[in-house]
Amino acid sequence: MSGRSFFHEGDRVGVLTTQPLDRVLDYTAPAGGCHLGAFVEVPLGPRRVIGVVWGPGQGDFDSARLRPVKRVLDVPPMRAEMMDFLGRAADYTLTPLPAMLRLATRAPGLGDPPSMRRIYRLGPATPERMTSARERVLAVLEEDDAVYTLGELAEAAGVTSSVVKGLVKHGAVLEAETPRDLPYPRLDATLPGKALTDQQADAAADLRARVAEGCYATTLLKGVTGSGKTEVYLEAVAACLARGRQALVLLPEIALTAEFLARVRDRFGVGAAEWHSGATMTERRRLWRMVGQGGAQLVVGARSALFLPFRDLGLIVVDEEHDTSYKQEDGVLYNARDMAVLRASLNDAAVVLASATPSLESWANAEAGKYARRDLPARFGAAVLPEMAAIDLRAEDLPGGRWVSPSLARAVEARLAAGEQALLFLNRRGFAPVTVCRACGHQIQCDQCDTAMVEHRFMKRLMCHQCGETKPIPETCPACGVADRLAPVGPGVERLAEEAAALFPEARIAVLSSDLFGSARALKARIEEIARGDADIVIGTQLVAKGHNFPLLTLVGVIDADLGLQGSDLRAAERTFQLMRQVAGRAGRAEKPGVALLQTHQPDHPVIRAILAGDEEGFWRAEAAERRAAGVPPYGRMAGIILSGPEPRPVFDIAGRLARADAPLRAVGAQLFGPAPAPIARIRGRHRVRLLVKADRAVPLQAALADWARQVKLPPNIRLTIDIDPQSFY
Ligand code: ADP
Ligand code: ZN
Repeated sequence: MSGRSFFHEGDRVGVLTTQPLDRVLDYTAPAGGCHLGAFVEVPLGPRRVIGVVWGPGQGDFDSARLRPVKRVLDVPPMRAEMMDFLGRAADYTLTPLPAMLRLATRAPGLGDPPSMRRIYRLGPATPERMTSARERVLAVLEEDDAVYTLGELAEAAGVTSSVVKGLVKHGAVLEAETPRDLPYPRLDATLPGKALTDQQADAAADLRARVAEGCYATTLLKGVTGSGKTEVYLEAVAACLARGRQALVLLPEIALTAEFLARVRDRFGVGAAEWHSGATMTERRRLWRMVGQGGAQLVVGARSALFLPFRDLGLIVVDEEHDTSYKQEDGVLYNARDMAVLRASLNDAAVVLASATPSLESWANAEAGKYARRDLPARFGAAVLPEMAAIDLRAEDLPGGRWVSPSLARAVEARLAAGEQALLFLNRRGFAPVTVCRACGHQIQCDQCDTAMVEHRFMKRLMCHQCGETKPIPETCPACGVADRLAPVGPGVERLAEEAAALFPEARIAVLSSDLFGSARALKARIEEIARGDADIVIGTQLVAKGHNFPLLTLVGVIDADLGLQGSDLRAAERTFQLMRQVAGRAGRAEKPGVALLQTHQPDHPVIRAILAGDEEGFWRAEAAERRAAGVPPYGRMAGIILSGPEPRPVFDIAGRLARADAPLRAVGAQLFGPAPAPIARIRGRHRVRLLVKADRAVPLQAALADWARQVKLPPNIRLTIDIDPQSFY
């Protein structure tokens, strides 16, 4: 990028657009000139598109034919560090820059001029004739100093808008124009926080000091569930706001936002700005503009908030940093945790990675001294970590089609008798994962994917968890035509609920599974009811493992602790360890101690033993040693390559040609595995072939991969995706 930061009218400028082109396009700067980073509208063929002035023009295009930039948008130019961030993120994830820019321009109405709106306030005059409708309007305006539009005021007062207009005519109500997008209310960083325990205060002082230094640093904040990590990192937020810088808190799930906002209100007097798919267009537009102007101090959001145009970002918190939802699995394949660290390092910002069960990557970075680490080993107040034990399913009398062992059932009974809550955890949505024909053995598959259809009895349909396709449950077998022999095989939460209802007829049972709720709001409302005691037995998927508080819950029963250990995923052990500890952490949050019981067929499996022993450092050390020996992340580098197309043959042909053209990979010492059919060999009708590349940590893998992928020209209907540091291996 050049040192020039301003271009005069007629200067040649390079504009990066969000169009899928492989280069920056040249234009001339408009009348009045434009800054480096300016958001502009440019003509492209017959259309006008939005772009960013990325630098001086390259000059290889006939200057006589250059077209001028149409106009400069009325938003602050993209900052140099943001341009740098997008460039590096694109290089790291092997994403074309236009796709990266698209992430950074997801602002509804970005091209619109700043719009005004008319608001209504109390005026000095009194109308000659007072009616009850007029009184109501004035009462609404007297009540607080909220800002009302005509429609809002009329609705709040329960009158028609002509009543308001009448008051305006008399001077009793005033009209004024204000910008549509107003700054967010200011947070008060001087309010006192909760009195912290010594351990919490120590960690908080440390984080405050790092934020105060105003340079890049990452801290892994590890603390068991309920140890007060949120309280502690809110202190880092306070330090950041006190310095006049902005803070971003990333959460893995929208449903956690409301609880977090309540904590922010407690701590700083007002809430934070929200950025996620549940926010309205108006709010997103306001937030995007306000973070650029410094009118939003604290943003809480989903991973895409990393691409907001912060004016001065001083702190990024990644809560539940191990959570797999931080990895975007379609479109641009990026890990928000890693990108948070990258962005912070370019912004002189601090990072806090908070988790009870950090990812092995972060644990290893802390071991290696790249990240600082602070531990909060104790739970706050009287709460203690649950006692953990295995239920050896080999020794239990459990008939086919039943999943709650007699030992677990007795433990649940005891909780019910004591008036406490129990959670039965099963990470499977629906009624049964597989439906087979008892006559011919046929398994009902998705028409578009190589996966079994999952019965959802609640919806009375079969559903494919890959593509979302549903179909009615057939009465006769689609293969052999025999009637009434289709049977569910295996448990899902709905089936478990049925079993629990039979075992504990008196109990109030609640099922928490994402597909059973129409909206995040409905789900959150239900979670709150349950937390207040409106259920005796909670049956849930991994949804319940994520940060929600259930103070009355004292027993967690894990139906199938072995579930995650199957399969070839390199993170299977790590995931199971994290998930089991997260779920167990739901028990005994308040004053009552909790118990977690894990049903397993392999009580001697090293992962199960590590979970039960609670020896976290021991688990990570063993896991780290294995990964180091295998040369896999975080000790080696990996890329997953998927080729897909409508017909299997051409996909295999291209994959074979790519495999033979592996010279650029061999040149850097990287190893290529495959091609092989992907574990799910067909999704949405596309046949999938997988290759895997492994290399030493020090290898410049991205450049080699880019060279390699260029060797083979893809036919238009075949897609190639390269996933750096893959998290999933389907
Ligand atoms: P974590 O984020 O580690 O799960 P939280 O910060 O949510 O822990 O704390 C768990 C609960 O304990 C919350 O209800 C929180 O308000 C409370 N808590 C933690 N530390 C304190 C403290 N120092 N004073 C009062 N309440 C606290
Ligand atoms: Zn499908």
